[in-house]
Amino acid sequence: MKLGPSGDTSHYDGPGLVLSQFRKSRNRIDEVNHCEVGIAGGGIIGLSAALELAAAGLKVTVFERGRAMAESSWAAAGMLAAGDPENPAALRPLAKLSAGLYPQFLANIERLAGERIPVRTSRTIQGVRQLPEGLHDLDTAELAALAPGLAAGSLKFFSLDEPSLDPRDLARALPRAVRAAGVTLLENTAVTAVNAQARGVRIETDSGTWSAEKMIHCSGAWAAELTDIPIVPRKGQMVVVEGPERLNVVLRTPEIYLVPRSNGLIAVGASVEEAGFDKQVYPATTARLLDLAAALWPPVRTMRVVDAWAGLRPATTDGLPVIDTCGEHCWVAAGHFRNGILLAPGTARVLLEMISGEPLSVDLEPFRCGRFAASSVHT
Ligand SMILES: Cc1cc2nc3c(=O)[nH]c(=O)nc-3n(C[C@H](O)[C@H](O)[C@H](O)COP(=O)(O)OP(=O)(O)OC[C@H]3O[C@@H](n4cnc5c(N)ncnc54)[C@H](O)[C@@H]3O)c2cc1C
Repeated sequence: MKLGPSGDTSHYDGPGLVLSQFRKSRNRIDEVNHCEVGIAGGGIIGLSAALELAAAGLKVTVFERGRAMAESSWAAAGMLAAGDPENPAALRPLAKLSAGLYPQFLANIERLAGERIPVRTSRTIQGVRQLPEGLHDLDTAELAALAPGLAAGSLKFFSLDEPSLDPRDLARALPRAVRAAGVTLLENTAVTAVNAQARGVRIETDSGTWSAEKMIHCSGAWAAELTDIPIVPRKGQMVVVEGPERLNVVLRTPEIYLVPRSNGLIAVGASVEEAGFDKQVYPATTARLLDLAAALWPPVRTMRVVDAWAGLRPATTDGLPVIDTCGEHCWVAAGHFRNGILLAPGTARVLLEMISGEPLSVDLEPFRCGRFAASSVHT
């Protein structure tokens, strides 16, 4: 007995008809399952890249294993900490580019999504043990005016003109914005393999196969599953408090930060832990965070804990992201560690420049994949 293409006999009406039906369905599949650029990962890095590429006229599909913006990008504190003295020096040009693009990035998302992403604070009071060269520290009166209640201890403080936002606002608006920009965002769709083919890549997902001319890996702390780049998760636990005392600036030291949300809530964070993919919140850790926060800003001691969560930062051994080509027709943008919210628009910009062969806005040498191979040879 001759079988139809799917192996059953019920719709078999002779070879001619079967062949034409088969061709028709193949065409339909090819038409549906093709895009110019496929992006694995619907966090802030993948979605910002999708927005930038779509604005340049590219047909983009984002594959997101779970819900878009529900992992590290949802868990972040939301500081745009371009001036944090803890940042590696090599990050500064990209951080500066990204911070400069932010107003335009937010305005574009707001226009496309039809909702506001308010800037929650516009100043950070940074505590340090040693003042960076060229900066002057705030005196007691200045500190009392900017951050009433601050317990300076032995630290010196300086003021940074640095905004913060609530990543939950972005988590709501960014997926809407990318869809409004014409991007296909497929949630609950995990990329399981990417293979180079003659003129692009074949993307295997858990709900079908796609072909694309280009592929970008933006899968955050999970990027090592699909690439051979050593990106690992660094867990961060955070806790939110609420109370009558108001804070209008971000307070940050190398040990702890307090980020007010402008609605009376203050996010306190964050731990940096090697805990694999564990996202559980542990009371002992949040208690330690609250102790550190209260030592810096004593009103925390009497505030009510209203929320706590943990997220997985994508980390590399040198604390710098990986933004590079990684195999034929493939690129990677991952490993943004503690600064992925800040670095998203800048990363999206340089990805577009790389992909279209335009001059780069910043030198990407510090972010190359090859640096890991080199360091493993030397150690
Ligand atoms: C507690 C905490 C506080 C932070 N605070 C700040 C801050 O104040 N400022 C700042 O700039 N940054 C901050 N960060 C860092 C920032 O959150 C991250 O750098 C950034 O979110 C990384 O974005 P991403 O898109 O690479 O990763 P994610 O947001 O984790 O997105 C990756 C996505 O890829 C998906 N994925 C994984 N594998 C696959 C697959 N095979 N197929 C399809 N999809 C896949 C995941 O489901 C996920 O949605 C903080 C992080 C944490 C945890």
